[in-house]
Amino acid sequence: MALFIPHNGCPHKCTFCNQRNIVGQAYQPNADDVTNAVKIAVDSLKENTKEAEIAFFGGSFTAIDREYMLELLDATKPFINSFKGIRLSTRPDCIDDEIVSLLKSYKVTSIELGAQSMDDEVLKLNERGHTADDVRNACRIIKNYGISLGLQMMTGLYGSDFYKDIYTADEFIKLRPDTVRIYPTVIMQDTELANLYNSKKFIPYTLEQSVELCSKLILKFKSENIRIIRLGL
Ligand code: SF4
Repeated sequence: MALFIPHNGCPHKCTFCNQRNIVGQAYQPNADDVTNAVKIAVDSLKENTKEAEIAFFGGSFTAIDREYMLELLDATKPFINSFKGIRLSTRPDCIDDEIVSLLKSYKVTSIELGAQSMDDEVLKLNERGHTADDVRNACRIIKNYGISLGLQMMTGLYGSDFYKDIYTADEFIKLRPDTVRIYPTVIMQDTELANLYNSKKFIPYTLEQSVELCSKLILKFKSENIRIIRLGL
């Protein structure tokens, strides 16, 4: 079962994200929502919960208000032994020993990092606010704690190209993640990316280009036995 945790008040301004414009509008699940969602999952999964994870997605779980984060994690405690563990996603620069040790104590078993690109220029152009070395550092910490590592990449970001996207995949492979997700860039309204597109500074891949690139990436990850996760796990 998965809950989307928006990062209301996120201080970043990634070019592709419209979350800054919907601050306060996105519903923030509370402890009761977690309890209810887990109970529904327990009922529907029956004896198969041991294969399932409680998932918190939204991109910045370890960057949200600490009290709120603990409220959500505390709500999983009565059920956690029935599940395989907890999966969550976060930013690479929001990982350190203290937070990973805390997450481990709550039985977090999988952490996915929104790395998006391993090219520092692409990260900078898209105002991600972190570097490729932040990704490498976060991977090392997560692996040190024996937690399953997931890496997420976006293809066709502003300033990227086939070569840089393939470079990102190759750098991911060096980091030996357990899973990857590939997100072709989508232009959403009211984003900096939309402004760049409208002013013809950003030309997205065509559908054919995107399919060609993603099929190369899929083959690359498969040949390295790295599991590719699709939306919805
Ligand atoms: S994608 Fe970037 S701007 Fe959007 S919520 Fe995540 S960190 Fe903040």
